[in-house]
Amino acid sequence: MNNRDKVITIDVGECVQCEGCVEQCPHNALEISAGGYPFCVESLCTRCGACIEICPVLAISFE
Ligand code: SF4
Ligand code: SF4
Repeated sequence: MNNRDKVITIDVGECVQCEGCVEQCPHNALEISAGGYPFCVESLCTRCGACIEICPVLAISFE
């Protein structure tokens, strides 16, 4: 599957701010915003999907 043209989307309405995705990302592509929610630094993201698998509330998807 080729995800290179997709971007990580985080649904802040579902996110419980556990920061598990930030810890799981092998490329440090997720950071916490001032509001406390994670966001993806697209230039660092390899679309590996690790953050999607770790999220306990399925708040992360590929767009
Ligand atoms: S898809 Fe992979 S590289 Fe991109 S933010 Fe998620 S864990 Fe990090
Ligand atoms: S793993 Fe899911 S619930 Fe936890 S901070 Fe990331 S997006 Fe939010």
